[in-house]
Amino acid sequence: MSIKALKGFKDILPDEVGLWQFIEQTTRDVFHRYGLEEIKVPTLEKTELFVRTIGESTDIVEKEMYTFTDRNGTSVTMRPEGTASVIRAYIENGLYVRGSVQRLYTIGPMFRHERPQKGRLRQFHQMSVEVLGSNSAMIDTEVMAMAWQILKEIGLQASLEINSLGCTSCRPAFKAALQEFIKVRISYLCEDCQRRSTTNPLRVLDCKSDHCQAEYVSAPSITDHLCDGCCDHFEKVRQTLESLKIPFDVNPKMVRGLDYYTQTTFELITTELGSQGAIGAGGRYDGLVRQLGGPGVPGIGFAMGMERLVMLLSQKEQGEILHALDLFLVTQGDKAYEKGFVLMQALRAEGLRVMMDHEGRSMKNQMKQADKQKAWFALILGTRELENHEVALKDMHSGEQELIELPLTFEDWAAVIKDKIKI
Ligand code: ATP
Ligand code: MG
Repeated sequence: MSIKALKGFKDILPDEVGLWQFIEQTTRDVFHRYGLEEIKVPTLEKTELFVRTIGESTDIVEKEMYTFTDRNGTSVTMRPEGTASVIRAYIENGLYVRGSVQRLYTIGPMFRHERPQKGRLRQFHQMSVEVLGSNSAMIDTEVMAMAWQILKEIGLQASLEINSLGCTSCRPAFKAALQEFIKVRISYLCEDCQRRSTTNPLRVLDCKSDHCQAEYVSAPSITDHLCDGCCDHFEKVRQTLESLKIPFDVNPKMVRGLDYYTQTTFELITTELGSQGAIGAGGRYDGLVRQLGGPGVPGIGFAMGMERLVMLLSQKEQGEILHALDLFLVTQGDKAYEKGFVLMQALRAEGLRVMMDHEGRSMKNQMKQADKQKAWFALILGTRELENHEVALKDMHSGEQELIELPLTFEDWAAVIKDKIKI
C-alpha cells in the first residue's frame, strides 16, 4: 500500500502554487513599504516557550500542540504560532540595541493538532508581523492599515473587528465582574465554559455555543471597565482608523485565544469561508517581552492565515493576474524551431517567463499547451515569419492576434518583443 500524507498535512501542488506566490509577493511588498524587515526563526522550540507565552489554559496549549520529547529528553514543540519565537529571538539576539522600534515579519508553517476541515489544517502557513518598542496608538492603526492594504492589493475584502482588553491595572476588575456574572448562571453553561470560569474566565466570551452566547448578552463589557489610559489609547486607535477611512466595528466580546494580549486586539473576518471566517488576527502584548526575560518593551503583532487567503482567492476569477507564463513560443518547421530556441533564451534573459515545445508537436497542439500552461501570450514563429522578419503575437485571453515587425538583426528581436507585450 502506498504511503499517504498525515491527516491535516497538505501538499501544495504546482497548479495552486501560483496563488501562493502571488499572495506572498504582494504581502512582502506591502511589508517592505511599511519598513518591516524579515526574520526567520526555527519551527521547533522548547515547549516551555509556548506554555509561558500563549498560556496554560488556552486551547492551543491544552490540546493543540505537537509536543514530544527529543532524543536528549528535552520537551520540544512544533511552533503553533510565530510571536513567541520572534520575541525569544529578539531577546536572545539583543535586537533592541538596533533601534528603539523593531518592525519584523516572518512567513512560514505553523502546527496545531486540530480537527481538520475546510480552511483548518494541522500544518498551515502564516505571515506574521511583530512591531516591538512602541505603545503609540498610531502603531496599532498602522499595523491594521497594513493588514487592510494587503487584503486590498490581493483583491479580497474582509471586515475589521476591534476591541481593547485593557491592561494589568484594569483587567483584574473586569475579570472579577465577569466571574461574578458567570457564577450566578454556571449551571446553564456548557462544560467548557464551566471549566474556564475558573481557569480563564475571559475565554468564555469566545464560546461557540449559541446557548452560552445567549447567556452572555447581558455580560459585563470590558469597554466599561477600561482605565483612563486604556480608554484614551482605544479612543485614539478608533479616531486614527476613521481618519484613514478604514471601516471597523467594535466587538467588546472579542477576547482572542491567547493570554498575552493587552489593549488593542483585532480580527479580519470574511463571511465567504463559513465558520473558518477569521483570515487574520492580532493585538498588542505590552507585557510579553518582559515576561520572557527581556526589557520592558511593548509590542503589537498580527498573523494572517495563508490557506484561507488562497481559498478565498481561488473562489474568485483571477485569470487576469495569475499567468504562469508570459509567453509560449509556438514554432513551425526545423529552422524556426532552432531560431526559436535561441530566441527563447534571449527572451528569458530579458526577464520574461517563456516555454516552448521540444517534442515536435503540431501547431494546434502547441497552442493547446500554451493554454494549458497558462501563458498570457502565444508567440508564433513559422518559416514564413522567419523570412519576413515578423512574428504573430496572440493574446490568449482576448484571442486578438497581431503581426509584429522585427528588426533585421536577430539579436534585437527579444527587446522588441518584450517592449510589445509591456510586462
Ligand atoms: P480560529 O478562530 O479560526 O481557530 P485562531 O484565533 O486560532 O483562529 P490565530 O491563532 O489568531 O487563529 O491565527 C491567525 C490566523 O491563522 C487565523 O486568522 C487563521 O487565518 C489562521 N489559522 C489559525 N489556525 C489555523 C488552522 N488550523 N488552519 C489554517 N489556518 C489557521
Ligand atoms: Mg484556533
